[in-house]
Amino acid sequence: MSLLQSIPKVDRVLVTEPVQELLQFHSRPFVLAAVRSALDELRQRIRSGEPFPPGSLEQTVAARAAMICSDLSSPNLKRVVNGTGIVIHTNLGRSLLAEAARQGLADAAFRYTNLELDLATGERGSRYSHVEQLLCELTGAEAALVVNNNAAAVLLALASLAAGREVVVSRGELVEIGGSFRIPEVMAQSGAVLREVGTTNRTHRRDYQNAIASETALFLKVHTSNYAVVGFTATVEADDLVDLGRRHGVPVMADLGSGSLVNLSSLLGCDEPTVGELVRQGVDVVTFSGDKLLGGPQAGIIVGSRERLDLMKRHPLLRALRIDKLTLAALEATLRLYRDQRQALAEIPTLRLLATPSAVLAERGKRVVRRLRRQVSREVVLTLEEGVSQVGGGALPLLELPTTLLAVEASPLSAREVEAFLRGARVPIIGRIQRGKFLLDLRTILDDDVAPLMTGLSALAVRASSSAT
Ligand SMILES: *Cc1c(COP(=O)(O)O)cnc(C)c1O
Repeated sequence: MSLLQSIPKVDRVLVTEPVQELLQFHSRPFVLAAVRSALDELRQRIRSGEPFPPGSLEQTVAARAAMICSDLSSPNLKRVVNGTGIVIHTNLGRSLLAEAARQGLADAAFRYTNLELDLATGERGSRYSHVEQLLCELTGAEAALVVNNNAAAVLLALASLAAGREVVVSRGELVEIGGSFRIPEVMAQSGAVLREVGTTNRTHRRDYQNAIASETALFLKVHTSNYAVVGFTATVEADDLVDLGRRHGVPVMADLGSGSLVNLSSLLGCDEPTVGELVRQGVDVVTFSGDKLLGGPQAGIIVGSRERLDLMKRHPLLRALRIDKLTLAALEATLRLYRDQRQALAEIPTLRLLATPSAVLAERGKRVVRRLRRQVSREVVLTLEEGVSQVGGGALPLLELPTTLLAVEASPLSAREVEAFLRGARVPIIGRIQRGKFLLDLRTILDDDVAPLMTGLSALAVRASSSAT
């Protein structure tokens, strides 16, 4: 009780020098709230029997209030160092934009644009027109449309083509993507009726054929983005399904998820059909994400036959799912890079990071460690190991890319303590723990990440040596 009584009054804290300084930069109510939070924390600590902080209580509370103000004033959404090696990491914002997108973004944000003005006629134009031609050129499709994300693209396509009717899907393709995108649920929201065929591991052409009825609206193929069915399996490829559909007047849609415009087999040694290949095979509608393998902003891209796309362009849902102008600008700039494949591979960060050869990563690892060792004291032990990185973002779930890992050890801290400490750094550093070690994958460490790494690891060294004493 007497300890609680020794907690300083707000007024006594307000006159301390650190708080007086805060008042020069922040409003009085803001600082007052921070001081009250700091006092509350102190009260909690005393009640829970924690050791009493040494020194002047006013000063302790004032210092804590300054930290609270600083935390509250820095943005919640902020830069982090991606040391996971996962190039398309949904929790870390998926794809980084190409430099070319910067100007488009800035112009769309800070200037008036012809977003919905047809400059040729002076009449109202369509925002979708700015990328439609480009998408048709890059995929060979007759028509294209872009929306907020691929989940929206699938929803719009199903609602436009199949509401009140049946959509035939293989049981092996009823996917759930992280963040609760589930094919059966999206289907229900669209008003279409799911007609499952085949089994989890094997679905045959005759399964689709037997499902055809007067209410059949669509065959849907869904890319098994984040898992693989292996062993005794059978699936019906898109071209086969198109052939069956044509014979019975049933259109085919493919939700590719992480659709790519370039053939990745030479780049990554894996065999995935490109969007253009599916269009050429006669798939009527293809949907894919803007921020997965394409390497652009969050968007949902729909390409396909003019007839089907016209239905989507007229659907009332489109207005609710529409893409915003900043995204559109970034997407157009990204798509333009694909006119020259070499340029796309060189300038789109997602493709560049995925394609970085392991020898380059090993070299980069040595360079980074040399620089870090000069700055970071010996409490932090840095070693390089070989390992593998994953693509992420619901793309190529089985592919493992050889990489170089930077192991960070800071005895007596455990790997979990190191992970938590670096995650809490001013520029948070995100890595993974494997075999009891905290690891940073060089594949996704960018050149300008070295400075925040230096700061974070130096702070870690201080923490480790203070824990040791
Ligand atoms: C990622 C993915 C989606 C969802 O795309 P978003 O752009 O995240 O909305 C849908 N279907 C498949 C197959 C996917 O891989």
